[in-house]
Amino acid sequence: MTTPLSETRARAARVVTPELVARLTHGVPGGEPATVHSPLTGEPLAELPIATPDDVSAAFDRARAAQHAWAARPVRQRAAVLLRLHDLLLRRQGEVLDLIQLETGKARLHAHEEVQAVLAAARHYGRAAPGYLRPRRRPGAFPVLTRVRELRHPRGVVGHISPWNYPLELSAGDVLPALVAGNAVVMKPDTRTALTALWARRLLVEAGLPEDVWQVVLGDGPVVGPLLVRHADYVTFTGSTRTGREVAGGAAARLIGVSLELGGKNAMLVLRDADLDRAAAGAVRGCFSSAGQLCVSMERLYVHEAVADEFLRRFVARTAALRLGAPLDYGTDVGSLVSQAQLDTVTRHVTDAVARGATVLAGGRARPDLGPYFYEPTVLDGVTPEMPVCAEETFGPVVSVYRFTDEDDAVDRANATPYGLNSSVWSRDARRARRLAARLRTGTVNVNEAYAAAYGSVRAPMGGMGDSGLGRRHGAEGILKYTESQSVAEQRLVPMGPAFGLDDRGYAAFLNRALRVMKALRMR
Ligand code: NAD
Repeated sequence: MTTPLSETRARAARVVTPELVARLTHGVPGGEPATVHSPLTGEPLAELPIATPDDVSAAFDRARAAQHAWAARPVRQRAAVLLRLHDLLLRRQGEVLDLIQLETGKARLHAHEEVQAVLAAARHYGRAAPGYLRPRRRPGAFPVLTRVRELRHPRGVVGHISPWNYPLELSAGDVLPALVAGNAVVMKPDTRTALTALWARRLLVEAGLPEDVWQVVLGDGPVVGPLLVRHADYVTFTGSTRTGREVAGGAAARLIGVSLELGGKNAMLVLRDADLDRAAAGAVRGCFSSAGQLCVSMERLYVHEAVADEFLRRFVARTAALRLGAPLDYGTDVGSLVSQAQLDTVTRHVTDAVARGATVLAGGRARPDLGPYFYEPTVLDGVTPEMPVCAEETFGPVVSVYRFTDEDDAVDRANATPYGLNSSVWSRDARRARRLAARLRTGTVNVNEAYAAAYGSVRAPMGGMGDSGLGRRHGAEGILKYTESQSVAEQRLVPMGPAFGLDDRGYAAFLNRALRVMKALRMR
C-alpha cells in the first residue's frame, strides 16, 4: 500500500537526484561533506560540501575580484538581471517548491509564499533600483554658491547569514537589493535548507548574474558565521536574537554596518467590533502558516471579553479542521516542523503550560503517524506569566489566548515584551484600528490581516524594533543599507571664509544676517 509518506520518499528520490546536487553545488567550496535530511521523511536528502576557513576566505577573494566589474555595469543592466529572474522563477517555481517542502517540511501553499515574496522583490528592485540609486542634487550650505550631489556607492562584499525557515525568500529575496546596488555577496544559508538557496543562486546565474558575484559557503553557524563577519564589508543576518547579538558584536568590533532580522512574540488584538469570521480565519493563517515557524506569525491572541467566547468557538473549530500533511502538492494546511529541536521546544512549552494549569482548546499533540516532526496546531487558554510559552518565542504552531476589557490595557500587554517585530489589529472601524496600530511597538502592524499585508508590501520597510532587530528590509531602506552615501559638494564664486575685505567680525556678522534670511525664507 502507498502511504503519503512513502509517496513523499519516492518523490524525494526523483527530485533530489545526484545530478541535481552536483549541478547546484558546482563551485561551492568544501572538504568533508555533511548529510542533510528531509524533515518530512527523516531520511537523508543530500551530501553537501562544508567550507573550511580557507574556503571562506577564498570565496571572499573571488567575490571581491568580481564585484568591481559588476558595480561598473550601469544599474539598469544589473536591474535587468532581476527582471529576468522574475520570469524564470515564475515559470520554474515547481522545481523550487519541491525543494522548499523537502527541506523545511512546510505545506506547499506556504512554500509558495516564498516564491511570491521573491517575485515581488525582483519586480520592485528590478524596476525601482535605478531611482533609489541615482545621484541626487541636494541644496548646499548657501543657495547658488554651494552645490551638492549625493552619490550611492556599493559597500563591497556583503556577508549574508540566513536561517532555515524561509530558505528561498531569506536567501534570494534578501540578496537581490544588495546585488542590484552593485555589491557582491558571500552567503551562508542554514545547511539544512541549502539546496533551495543554491537553486536560487543557479537561477540568478541563468538570469545573467556573473558566477562569482554571489558565493555560497556552507557549514556550522558558530564556525562559518563568524568568518563571514570577519571578512565582510557589511553584514545582513536573519535568525534568533541570541545569535543576532553575537553577529552585531563581531560587526561592532570591525566597525562595519549590520542589519538584523530577529525573533518575535507577536500579538494579535481582536477588538469588540471585529468581524469575527474574518478574524478567526486570519488568526488561523497568522498562527499556523509554515507550522508557526514564521518570524511574523502570531503567538499571543488578545480578544475583547465581550466577543471572546464567540471568537474562540469559530477559531477553535477552524483550527481543529486544519488538514495536516505535506505531500509535494497543494491541498494540506499545515506541514511539519523542521527538526527534533523544534519539536522539543513546542512539546516543552505545551506540556509545561498544561502542567501549570493551562487548558488545551485545540491540538496539543505530536503526530508521529504523519512524519517525525509533525505537531498539531494548538490553542492554549489560561496561560499565566510564569509559563515559558507566555513570553518566550515558541516558533511553532502554538498560540495562547488572553481576554481584555480595556483597549489601553490590551495595547500595554501586547507591548510588554522585549520583542517588537509584527502585530495585528482586527476591527470593522479601520480608522480606529489604524490609530491603535500606531501605538503598538512593532516594526510592522497589519490591520484586518495577520502578517501577509505588511510582509507582501515590498515598497514599505519591514523589520523589528527592540530585540527583534536593527535595520529594515524592503522599500528604500532595504536597498540603501547596502550602499555608502557620498556627498560631493562644490563651492562656487565665493569662498567659505572671510572675503571682499571683511575681517573675521564682519564676516561673522554677514553670516548671521544670511542665516537669519534663510530661516525667514523658510529654507530647509
Ligand atoms: P539561528 O540564530 O540559530 O541561526 C540563523 C543562522 O545563523 C543560521 O544560518 C546559523 O547557522 C547561523 N549561525 C548560528 N550561530 C552563529 C554564529 N555564532 N555566528 C554567525 N552565524 C551563526 O536561528 P534559527 O533558529 O535558525 O532561526 C529561527 C529564528 O530566526 C527565530 O528566532 C525567528 O524568529 C528568526 N527569524 C527572523 C526573521 C525576521 O525577518 N525577523 C525571519 C526568519 C526567522
